[in-house]
Amino acid sequence: QEIAKLVEQITAVCDGLNSVQLMEVCGTHTVNLFRSGLKSLLPDTLRLISGPGCPVCVTSQGYIDAACELAARNDVTICTYGDMVRVPGRAGSLAQQRGKGAKVAVVYSARDALQYARKNPARKIVFLAVGFETTTPATAATILEAEKKNVANFFILLSHKLVVPAMEMLLSAGEVPIDGFICPGHVSVIIGSGAYEPIARRYGKPCVVAGFEPRGMLRAILHLCLQIAAGEARVENVYGVAVTESGNTVARQIVERVFRLAAETWRAIGELPDSGLKLRAEYRKFDAIGHFGVKIGPDVSPPGCLCGQVIQGKSTPANCTLFGKTCTPIEPVGPCMVSSEGTCAAWYKYGRN
Ligand code: SF4
Repeated sequence: QEIAKLVEQITAVCDGLNSVQLMEVCGTHTVNLFRSGLKSLLPDTLRLISGPGCPVCVTSQGYIDAACELAARNDVTICTYGDMVRVPGRAGSLAQQRGKGAKVAVVYSARDALQYARKNPARKIVFLAVGFETTTPATAATILEAEKKNVANFFILLSHKLVVPAMEMLLSAGEVPIDGFICPGHVSVIIGSGAYEPIARRYGKPCVVAGFEPRGMLRAILHLCLQIAAGEARVENVYGVAVTESGNTVARQIVERVFRLAAETWRAIGELPDSGLKLRAEYRKFDAIGHFGVKIGPDVSPPGCLCGQVIQGKSTPANCTLFGKTCTPIEPVGPCMVSSEGTCAAWYKYGRN
């Protein structure tokens, strides 16, 4: 009943507007909007655009190639979140490397990778440290633990990213019409709803923080539409049960202790200043790049793959000629079809009809 009422209210507000373009920044929102069927209930004049918030999708091809290069070494075991294993690199995926005898282990956390390192002192363990502010504190805490326990065979291949710089990049480029943002609940638990103030103030775009259940997402959409109708641009939080204005200051302090801001390369977007993190000098010994001398190569997309366009909201999977033909979840060509949070995977699973 509440869902029906929210849909009714959204429809009524949208009736008074020409069209509304909202970006859901996060891949979890993309998937849950599809899975819950909400997209089909919303008015045609309301367009939801998927943004650059799937961590696997925005990881550059050069990073995947570097991970594969490390996996090919006899003395290295790669520890990674599951989705990363299947992302195709220029010379195949980590799963293919594993088929050739490379040691690649799937873990659920950075700490699991550290435990693995302690149990296997004869091997060098490289954890693929990817993801947004949700996973960064756990990586930082694990580095501190590795330092405290003197674990000398644990390294990270670092590519953590920050959400707000990506939103600013999209708005500065001005290529995608965005009227407001549905902001990710889990990231906001760490950074706080206040982190989106510059988006509202500088760019005049409303931001609403939402959880991932249907009611929460609809409430966020309604609040955004109401702001747009009123010509306002404020930050609102409809996920108050988990998100505060200042976020988790303890988690952020841990991150700041271990990392400093740095430029980061995003798939198909390129290098964005202050959109990623680097290890501070005292923790640099954990950096796989420095230890193994591996290089992050060029970010070359697979031929025909529009992932770079899809993650920036410039294109939909339907515009990709490979979608559902040569690119499927079983045989993905690009990362957006691999990740459970990827837009192409969500379209394939829930949105083809
Ligand atoms: Fe890339 Fe496949 Fe998506 Fe096309 S359908 S953009 S090839 S992931």
